[in-house]
Amino acid sequence: MVGIDLGTTNSLVAIVENGSPRVLGRGDERLVPSVVGLADDGKIIVGQAALNQYVLAPERTVKSIKRKMGSADTVQLGDRAYLPEEISAFILRYLKHLAEEVLNDQVDSAVITVPAYFNDAQRQATKRAGELAGLEVARIINEPTAAALAYGIERQQEQHLLVYDLGGGTFDVSVIEQQGDILEVRASHGNVLLGGDDFDERLLQHLLTELAKEHRYDFKADRKAMARLTRAAERVKIALSSAPYARAAEEFLTNYEGKIVHLNSEVGREEFERLIDDLLASTLDSIDQALRDAGLQPAQINRVLLVGGSTRIPAVSELINVKMGIEPSIELNPDEAVALGAAVQAAIVRGDKVNAMLIDVAPHSLGIAVAKILFGHLTEGSFKAIIPRNTTIPTTRAERFFTLTPEQDTVEIEVYQGESPICTENTAMGKFMLADIPPAEDADKLRELIVEFTYNLNGIVEVVARDRSGKRHESLTVSTTAGKRVASLPERQKHFTPELEREITQAVNSAAQIELDLQAHGKTKDAAKLNKARHTLEAAHHRGDENRARKSLEKLDDLLYDLEEREDE
Ligand code: AMP
Repeated sequence: MVGIDLGTTNSLVAIVENGSPRVLGRGDERLVPSVVGLADDGKIIVGQAALNQYVLAPERTVKSIKRKMGSADTVQLGDRAYLPEEISAFILRYLKHLAEEVLNDQVDSAVITVPAYFNDAQRQATKRAGELAGLEVARIINEPTAAALAYGIERQQEQHLLVYDLGGGTFDVSVIEQQGDILEVRASHGNVLLGGDDFDERLLQHLLTELAKEHRYDFKADRKAMARLTRAAERVKIALSSAPYARAAEEFLTNYEGKIVHLNSEVGREEFERLIDDLLASTLDSIDQALRDAGLQPAQINRVLLVGGSTRIPAVSELINVKMGIEPSIELNPDEAVALGAAVQAAIVRGDKVNAMLIDVAPHSLGIAVAKILFGHLTEGSFKAIIPRNTTIPTTRAERFFTLTPEQDTVEIEVYQGESPICTENTAMGKFMLADIPPAEDADKLRELIVEFTYNLNGIVEVVARDRSGKRHESLTVSTTAGKRVASLPERQKHFTPELEREITQAVNSAAQIELDLQAHGKTKDAAKLNKARHTLEAAHHRGDENRARKSLEKLDDLLYDLEEREDE
């Protein structure tokens, strides 16, 4: 029996074998686009092949059929009209055959997932789709519940989980109450028309604006050019999840009035984040709504699980971390968590044993030493993590940094491993120099460099530093011990109670803000005092030292209180 995630954009099939869940795929093909089309020769095609023909033959290609499930809206393919469940059945049959091919065995039954907000008609239609595909549908389960199962949430625990699912075309957030073995969706909220496609669209508009600066040509009327631009936009978006800049490049995009148009445009991560800022903010409103519906405060949520490909955008986990006061879990591949959970449910139905999932993770944060000018003083030795601990490996992450002055042309990169914001409290892994960094385009500006960490499965980490153009680059290879982490472990012990976590986040945030104000008003002594108290608290927090964290929190709160009192006088 397999587990199937029948998604709006992509679908997947997974199985539990020898106690371990895994997604089934041919080579790299694991995500099957939820697209069905009628090929030139009159045959039905599914998945990537159907998606490929979409640009050329949209009238013969069906996308996002999931949005219509449960309705009687038919879609036309050639000379036949199909019900939504009939289209979904093509996708399910494709997945069934894929699984049979990989397993070399017959597949007769499945657990299929649906969004928590699906009503009875939508669930029934999904079940019928399974039956039409020749599958006995053992269970229909909620996607957020499946995600929780994939994370192997401990039995016998009583807790609340929040599942934040941001996919290609839909967004939803669900609050799940766990009482021992029972997982129940208490509330679910979202936007069925929000997802990665909208981020691509924002980037596409940005690229069009850039092109319009140089070309007087109506790209929007050119379907082929638009399809290539949309693809380029998605690629840029994905690249920006692990790098500070990405280039959208499409050669020979089109030609007009004898001119050839090449697309070659660089986008920065910060710029991209600004483009999608309001969309991400709207997801936070849905969190509030779901919490209200469940009658819970953010502090009552014990864990946050990230699901859906778009949660790989670093700004997403950062936002949620600040909002909820806990670090969200993203160790499982967010595209796969729901399918893996469906497979776990299938194994449970069959009475099979399921082992906890082992994932390769970076056991410690890795990063570099940075110097900051705080209150006019140079403070050296702050640690900036580039690969945070528990990041699933292999991975590549890059960040940008600046020199301290426009004249500085050499930087020493010191690599550290550990959780303290202070380098000397972490383990030094090695150092190297990047010299002859060229000046910024505007010579008055700080010179820029990019530091990239690549962590492979053997625990080997390659650190590369380069200037913006990539002309100068130097690297260092260090060796760490790669760790394995059981996906089912509750958030690591460093986590304090949600209340304490929240108080720390609040105090740290207000302190940082007030430091800036004080600095702006020339009160550097107070600012430095506050800065020190804040760092002590952050260090205790990172170390998971609850006693010290409480003490430092008290001290920081006292300081903040004193400053406010004086302000009022
Ligand atoms: P899903 O529906 O969960 O398969 O999510 C698909 C969406 O995730 C698409 O919009 C993808 O472009 C997006 N996506 C996949 N990988 C990344 C990534 N690394 N960064 C940002 N978005 C991604």
